[in-house]
Amino acid sequence: MSNGTAIAVRDIKGKPGEVVRGFVEIGETPMGPIQFPVVIVRGAQPGATLCLTAGVHATEYPGIDAVLKTVATTDPQTLCGTLIAVPVVNQIMFQTRTGFTNPIDGLNLNRAAPGQADGTISQVLAHTLLTEVIAQADAHIDCHGGDLGEELWPYAGYVLTGSADQDKMGEAMVRLYTPRIFALYQDDTALPATGGSVTATASRQGTVSILAEAGSDGTLRPADTEHHLRGIRNVMRYLGMIDGDPEPCPDPLRARGQFIVSARRGGLVRLEIEIGQELVAGQKVADIVDVFGDVVEEVVTPEAGIARLIWTHKAINTGDPVVKCWRAEPAEPFTL
Ligand SMILES: [Zn+2]
Repeated sequence: MSNGTAIAVRDIKGKPGEVVRGFVEIGETPMGPIQFPVVIVRGAQPGATLCLTAGVHATEYPGIDAVLKTVATTDPQTLCGTLIAVPVVNQIMFQTRTGFTNPIDGLNLNRAAPGQADGTISQVLAHTLLTEVIAQADAHIDCHGGDLGEELWPYAGYVLTGSADQDKMGEAMVRLYTPRIFALYQDDTALPATGGSVTATASRQGTVSILAEAGSDGTLRPADTEHHLRGIRNVMRYLGMIDGDPEPCPDPLRARGQFIVSARRGGLVRLEIEIGQELVAGQKVADIVDVFGDVVEEVVTPEAGIARLIWTHKAINTGDPVVKCWRAEPAEPFTL
């Protein structure tokens, strides 16, 4: 573990026991700089360095809220190690309340890693975030949630790297973060890594990095913020940064795969399930009703699963998704 003595993001640097903050400029629009905020909480005692990021998708508000609250409530006098926080990574998406992709270059930042220093703005952002911020940390949590139009069941995920030490720590972190289900992604399995993701790239570059998901559809519900806050606190305890024992989820589920149930007919969706519900094979998910009020399709899940993402659209076209489900099983015991 690093002792935090050299943690600095450009001119943002502090002494032990200090909190410092500022902006990192990565480009400009005709009207001014494009930048992201950084807060460094430098503990009075040495210890691990943890990086928190939120707002890679900047309408996923509970993660942003949780990073802000974590920074505000962490006492540098009692902290062991260093927190580096970027509460809102994607400025343009935040100010324009845009989901998924950056309006300037049309790219999804979480598909643009590792990026490039002389690329479009999302590529520059990915490159800067990874090389100047996340690379300084032992561990990293990228806080997300369901984006606009998505209702999500909270989970945490980690991309296995093949390094036993890193992978043990990554699995510990996702088990400590999630309220119920976690996913360990690996290429050539039913859960492959997502190409260009910030967390996968960070882990391959040597910082143990997890994806943390809680929140839905542009909302900021206290329960979703609390999922993130609890997860962050647990990881900080596991890393020895704050007092207390980490508390893993008592009955964790491990994701083994996922599948999408979609509609074949167009119309109005009358949903018959809820997020997080355990579905059995053949169960009706929704009725599709045409514009004359006739039921034209009963959408049925072909197999058992847990409803992990419900699209909130109520008008539906042929082929549109209705629900994405986890294939899951009770997780094997794990020693932290
Ligand atoms: Zn996201």
